Amino acid sequence: LEVTAAPVCGEGRERRGVLVVLYDITEIRRLERVRAEFVANISHELKTPVTSIKGFAETLLEGALYNHRAAEEFVSIINEEAERLSRLIQDLLELSKIESREVKPQPENLDLTAEIKEIVDRLQPRFRKKGLELNTGLPPEAVYVRADSDHLEQILSNLLDNALKYTPEGGRVAVGLLPGEIEVIVVVEDNGIGIPAEDLPRIFERFYRVDKARSRKLGGTGLGLAIVKHLVSANGGRVWVESEPGRGSKFYFSLPAVEEVEETGNYGRDKI
Ligand code: ADP
Repeated sequence: LEVTAAPVCGEGRERRGVLVVLYDITEIRRLERVRAEFVANISHELKTPVTSIKGFAETLLEGALYNHRAAEEFVSIINEEAERLSRLIQDLLELSKIESREVKPQPENLDLTAEIKEIVDRLQPRFRKKGLELNTGLPPEAVYVRADSDHLEQILSNLLDNALKYTPEGGRVAVGLLPGEIEVIVVVEDNGIGIPAEDLPRIFERFYRVDKARSRKLGGTGLGLAIVKHLVSANGGRVWVESEPGRGSKFYFSLPAVEEVEETGNYGRDKI
C-alpha cells in the first residue's frame, strides 16, 4: 500500500482535516514480479543449453576430437542441445507474438471433425513409433466451429505432443469431440503418468513443469500449455484439465460453435 497525505484547510486557512490517499499497488507489484520472474526464467532456460554446448565443444577442442567414439557422442549432444535452443526460441517468439496481440486470429468456419482427422493422421507415425495407440472418437457428420485453422492445429499438436511425451509405451491416447449449440468441446485423453492435484492450478503457466528433469529429457520447453491457453482464449474458447497421477489426464478446450446457416429461398414450398 502506498500512502500520501495533505492537509485540508478552510477559508480562514484553519486546518479542517487531512486528506489521506491510499493506493493499492498490489496488482502493479504482482505484475512487476511476474515479469521479473519471467525474464529470470528465460535467461536460465537459454543458458542451460548454451553452457552444455560450450562445455562439450571445449572438451572436443582440448583433445576429445581425436577420440572417434567420444567425438561422435559429444557432437550428437551438441546437436540435441542446439535443437532444444531452437525450439525454445521458436516457442518464446510464438508466445510473445500472441501476447502482444501482433497476430490476430483469422477465424473461419472449420469442420472440426475433418481437421482433427487430418492432424491425427499426420501425428500417427510418431505415436506408433513409441508403441502408443492414438484413436479418435468423432461423430460421423461435420461439426463446425469458428476458429483460426493454424491456431487449432497448434493447440491440438501441443496437447497431443504432451500426451505422447507423458504416456509410457503401450499406453492409449484419444481425441474426442462433444458438439454443442454454443461451443464445441474437444478432449485429448491419455492414460499416462498424470498430474498431481497440487500442480494442476499452475500447469498453464509459462515454464511451470511438474518434473523439470523429465520434461527436459523429453525435449519439453515448458511453454506448450501456456501457448495453448493463449491461443484458445484468443479464439474465444476455454481450456481446462482433469488428471490423476498414475491414471492419466484429460485436457479439454472449447471453441465457439457455428450457428446453423439458415436456408434461404423457398424451394419445395407449395406455390400459392
Ligand atoms: P513441457 O514442454 O514441459 O511439456 P508444457 O507447458 O507443455 O511444457 O506442460 C507443462 C507441464 O505439464 C509438463 O512439464 C508436465 O509436467 C505437465 N503435463 C502436460 N501435459 C501432460 C500430460 N498429458 N500428462 C502428464 N503431465 C502433463
